[in-house]
Amino acid sequence: MRLRIKREDLSAIERHSKQSFPLECCGLLVGRRTGTEFEVLEAVPAENVKRSPTLFEMDPQFVHAVLSRAESRGLTIVGFYHSHPGVGAYVSGKDAEFLKLWPGVAWLIISATRELIEERRAYVYEGDEIRELKIEVY
Ligand SMILES: [Zn+2]
Repeated sequence: MRLRIKREDLSAIERHSKQSFPLECCGLLVGRRTGTEFEVLEAVPAENVKRSPTLFEMDPQFVHAVLSRAESRGLTIVGFYHSHPGVGAYVSGKDAEFLKLWPGVAWLIISATRELIEERRAYVYEGDEIRELKIEVY
């Protein structure tokens, strides 16, 4: 399974991750899913209303507005992104809970410090397990 994302969108997400350090940043991935491929056509930054270094939460009204706008263009929310400030891009216990709540939705995690992107990984919960997605930048 793959997550395809444009270089400029990934760069914007990585900038957001570094600028938010030491807090987690978060956002939405708008696009479409075809078979085993998640295609990201737009990265939409969101405010982390938790303002936490270990947790994030988005305003549900904002998420709903992004979804409505995506659907009006024949797209959907294919995933979410968030940063792990200073720690690896592994699936935390909280991440696993979210993944199970949102089966079939891609979960992009950026491990970042103020200066550096350490790691980027993506996952999805499908067929009763968490699977890693190959990230393809184009
Ligand atoms: Zn996480």
